[in-house]
Amino acid sequence: MRYLSTRNSKLYVTASEAILKGLSEDGGLFVPESIPELTTSLDALSKMSYKEVAYDVMSRFFTDFTEEELKACIDAAYDSKFETENICEMKKAGGAWFLELYHGKTIAFKDMALSILPHLLTTSAKKNGVKEEIVILTATSGDTGKAALAGFADVPGTRIIVFYPKDGVSRVQELQMVTQKGDNTKVIAIKGNFDDAQTGVKEMFNNKELNERLKEKGFRFSSANSINIGRLIPQVVYYVFAYAQLLKKGEIKAGEQINIVVPTGNFGNILAAYYAKRMGLPVNKLVCASNENKVLYDFFKTGTYDKNREFILTTSPSMDILISSNLERLLFHTAGDSSEKCAALMSELKTFGKYTVSEDMKENMSDFLGGFATEKQTGDIIGRLFGEDGYVIDTHTAVGAHVYDTYRKETKDDTVTVIASTASPYKFSRAVVGGLLGKVFTEESDFELIDMLHELSGIELPEAVKEIKTAEIRHKTVCEKNEMQKEVERALGL
Ligand SMILES: *Cc1c(COP(=O)(O)O)cnc(C)c1O
Repeated sequence: MRYLSTRNSKLYVTASEAILKGLSEDGGLFVPESIPELTTSLDALSKMSYKEVAYDVMSRFFTDFTEEELKACIDAAYDSKFETENICEMKKAGGAWFLELYHGKTIAFKDMALSILPHLLTTSAKKNGVKEEIVILTATSGDTGKAALAGFADVPGTRIIVFYPKDGVSRVQELQMVTQKGDNTKVIAIKGNFDDAQTGVKEMFNNKELNERLKEKGFRFSSANSINIGRLIPQVVYYVFAYAQLLKKGEIKAGEQINIVVPTGNFGNILAAYYAKRMGLPVNKLVCASNENKVLYDFFKTGTYDKNREFILTTSPSMDILISSNLERLLFHTAGDSSEKCAALMSELKTFGKYTVSEDMKENMSDFLGGFATEKQTGDIIGRLFGEDGYVIDTHTAVGAHVYDTYRKETKDDTVTVIASTASPYKFSRAVVGGLLGKVFTEESDFELIDMLHELSGIELPEAVKEIKTAEIRHKTVCEKNEMQKEVERALGL
């Protein structure tokens, strides 16, 4: 299986090269030349452990890894770092199945992929005879940063530099990052929003002169953002696993279709669900749930993507995004794997901040359905699910839960539905307690709210939360958004 750029289908690389590069030289994203078929029977999958499903799925994509290499990566990733043996759990509430993807080290779903990415990356470096030290450059809306830091801290042959929007993440998210240990880690706040951070990082990746200087000093960039295929493919695994678990529980029959609802920001998580469907997993609708930054909702409704709008800070900050990078992959696939069409749309986005897809492309996206939740609706559904089922969800998951609730009322579609539950409620205690009690909390400290949530819900405090209460703050750099490159040069001594 080869990988090609969404902007130039003549640029072929192997899976391990795509993982190493992160982004193609032309600014495009790597996509598999075809989506492999899930040939293992659903019954057989329902008897497998998470790791076994992971191997079954990933080996179809990462074809230049040996069985031994890939299994070593999987074993190193999905171990006791996760608080549950199953790696992820499924809970039924509000008529849907919540797929809890937050039992890893940093209590957000990003751990599912970022616990394996460092191993995929260092294995890829070895396979390709790369001598340089790998510098992971990452922009984060909050959760990627910490999960990447945790994954790469003290991994030999790597360094990691994380940029986050100073006022665009929750206090718990910020504390998790700035207390990160590891001599190879660096965390920098920028005075800007997530899109500024992401744009700055992309520019450094594409800066030829900078990359040459890096090489001379024995470094090379790679990315831990969800644009890296080494993050996307491990995310396909849990949708297959979730289906298999529903089958095992007797909730569905083999072959029965399910719906999948995903609270969406950069479009990585839901794209993984789309890949699972394209592999042959019986999936009906893919429901893309947005917060008030509802650029994707408008896109699926009208066919026009338009980022020219106000950027809204919400209580689901990991979804406060106006440029959903991974959507580029969907454009490529739904344009009939045409890099010309995809590149043209991306160039329109760059010049005008918007583009409109053709009727054909829109038709090819009919598996997708957009929905969104306002801040009030997000709080309300948190309170309602707790009141009715005693189940507590975080604000991001609540966006998905609200969109599902509305969809079900409008369509009467009673297809078995999985909602991706993307973070522990403890990560966003302020808004979650607010939702539970129907109030806005502004005076209380984050730790007071964590304690309140503990009392209200009885959910055990995760290690990740206990840790930050006492950890030392190690990272204090704040920079302007146009100083990102300077900070990188300083950190690496260029
Ligand atoms: C990153 C994140 C999302 C959005 O996922 P994408 O893959 O960027 O669409 C949703 N919820 C949480 C908690 C996240 O950390």
